[in-house]
Amino acid sequence: MVLKTKERQQLAGQEKKADDIVFPFDSDEHRPRDTKKDDAPVIMEISNIDKAYSGDKKVLNDIAFDIRQGEVLSIIGPSGAGKSTLLRVINRMIEPSRGSITFQGEDTLSMKGRKLRSMRTDIGMIFQHYNLVDRSSVFENVLHGLLGYKNSLQGIFSLYTEAEKQRAIEIITELGISEQLYKRCDELSGGQKQRVGIARALIQDPKIILCDEPIASLDPNASRTIMEYLRRISRERGITIVVNLHQLDAAKQYSDRIIGLNGGRIVYNGNPDDIDSDTISRIYGSKLDELIVE
Ligand code: ADP
Repeated sequence: MVLKTKERQQLAGQEKKADDIVFPFDSDEHRPRDTKKDDAPVIMEISNIDKAYSGDKKVLNDIAFDIRQGEVLSIIGPSGAGKSTLLRVINRMIEPSRGSITFQGEDTLSMKGRKLRSMRTDIGMIFQHYNLVDRSSVFENVLHGLLGYKNSLQGIFSLYTEAEKQRAIEIITELGISEQLYKRCDELSGGQKQRVGIARALIQDPKIILCDEPIASLDPNASRTIMEYLRRISRERGITIVVNLHQLDAAKQYSDRIIGLNGGRIVYNGNPDDIDSDTISRIYGSKLDELIVE
């Protein structure tokens, strides 16, 4: 990467101390729900989705729900409930066996070529294990988020404009990892890696970010920081966050709405505050002990 001096100058004094941001999951001080989100426009409609990987054993069964613009929607449920499959069906990393999905009014399941690539740049994704290029720097990993906009030659030679580099630096700074700009990703902590994952998704300028168990490998402090960033992104940028979570307390603290999955079916879709012990046992069933961790 070139322009190190200039880039470093741009960073001077802008750093936010993200590691200092700690929001306990059980605090009442940072109430997450924004009731205005209940009336926000629908950005995605998911109808009658089934998925069987092989034979007729459905891991998703008649899934139907809407996703609203700018909301934080958590999908919770025990392991094997189908959360990860559902997230991958939404951006067509996995094709469903039946059903329909519309994104901004357009049928996504029939999209091909340029249209499909454009839909994928509108839908960013972050992962439990970060999916970063370990030997590349933070800066390079974040710029990789722009590859969906590049032709293959530009991609191979990592050709980025000054404006793109500047934008990468702004996002990295906003996420509090500018001191790590030129560090290889395998030198970072888990929380820092996940912030690189968020930055890489943000540079795509997405409408939705799908988050697959983003805090499952993190300690409690790093988990809170990541959830706080995700919520802030929805509040400040109007980006929709759809997040698979194992942790019920994190889902309750940070979501505008919660969907509960059990055995590939939706068993709850509503307000986090209305989740009571009956709902919890409906969602977690015989796997209730999965909730008792640490
Ligand atoms: P969750 O994210 O809630 O843990 P998953 O979507 O990962 O659930 O898995 C749902 C079910 O689908 C599980 O029974 C799992 O074993 C099965 N499954 C997931 N991925 C595959 C795959 N690639 N091939 C076959 N079965 C799969």
